[in-house]
Amino acid sequence: MAKTAFSVDFNKWPEEQDIKTHNRWHPDIPMIEWYNPGDEFRVETYDWTGGQIKNDDSANDVRDVDLTKVHYLSGPFGVHGAEPGDLMVVDILDAGALPASAWGFTGIFARENGGGFLVEHFPEARKACWDFHGIYTTSRHVPGVRWAGIIHPGLIGCLPSRELMETANKREAALLATDPNRVPPLLAPPHADTALMGQMPEAAAAAAAKEAWRTVPPREHGGNCDIKNLSRGSKIYFPVYVNGGGLSMGDIHWSQGDGEITFCGAIEMAGFLDIGVDLIKGGIEKYGVINPIFRPSPIEPHFAEYLVFEGISVDEHTGEQYYLDAHVAYRRACLNAVEYLKKFGYTGAQAYVILGTAPVEGRISGIVDIPNACCTVAIPTAIFDFDINPNAQGPTRQVPASDIAVAS
Ligand code: ZN
Repeated sequence: MAKTAFSVDFNKWPEEQDIKTHNRWHPDIPMIEWYNPGDEFRVETYDWTGGQIKNDDSANDVRDVDLTKVHYLSGPFGVHGAEPGDLMVVDILDAGALPASAWGFTGIFARENGGGFLVEHFPEARKACWDFHGIYTTSRHVPGVRWAGIIHPGLIGCLPSRELMETANKREAALLATDPNRVPPLLAPPHADTALMGQMPEAAAAAAAKEAWRTVPPREHGGNCDIKNLSRGSKIYFPVYVNGGGLSMGDIHWSQGDGEITFCGAIEMAGFLDIGVDLIKGGIEKYGVINPIFRPSPIEPHFAEYLVFEGISVDEHTGEQYYLDAHVAYRRACLNAVEYLKKFGYTGAQAYVILGTAPVEGRISGIVDIPNACCTVAIPTAIFDFDINPNAQGPTRQVPASDIAVAS
């Protein structure tokens, strides 16, 4: 069993931990542990909100969550010998829930606090809680579904260099300036007030917090990629930008559909990751790497049958034609799936949550057939305890009248 390199105490807020978590990316955040190539270690993490969301039947906590405090990350871990230009090879040897916190949650975030992919259709805060049964999950808020988890870190990556940090800050500031007051916002700019800079000394941390990256987007270093296939057994190759690399991780998901569409769209949880580290010296140049590359797990859940929903790049409200816009096409595919699932008795919010949390496959099926992009959403039919395939009789209500939690 790998030695635990970072442990979580659920009786304390992350801010009160002896070894501090960090919720920003910055090249000068000190390593909390050092390892050699070939070493293995266990990392515990808080859920992405640091415990702000409770296992109850109200979405008030989702409505009120302080998004400037996320994501709470464990690390950074240094690897002896890692230098800029190398690839850090990271094995996700195992992943799971912690006995003190064997449950998960999914939030639909309100337009005024986060938003989500279908925010125009689902503008209010909502929440579903999930119970874990060995490898399976069910929800009292979403009846009629059950599936095996595909546990993965939503967020994992190495510390950026100063140059990369400044480059991204510049391009993001330029985008933000195009519509600075948009709700939901175009992006999350640096925000010093609630920054946690790990073990950085106070004065240095206060200065660094003003330029440190927020953890919201994926960037060249990986970060918040929310790729469900980075599950236990996968192997990831991260570009190294600072001496030691500085690997950090968090935002563990029990399961997620491609796109993580409700924003907090996975089954979010605290948990552990067993990590192995190694190096490919000079690997960035050798393999022409800009963004991380990875090999998926050999033990992903296997489904024999899917029902697949198509969408094209035509706006659902205005009928406006978009040019090969995969964002619009994917939204239409998701909306088509939501409308279909409602015919079996689900509310729109329940259907939205199923698409965000189940191991749903999202694809860009066609991106050249002017003017329509074609995106697809493939739902594994075996997750339902009834038949969702179309037939001559038509759909009937299959789930009891129910809904996910609302805010008061
Ligand atoms: Zn997450």
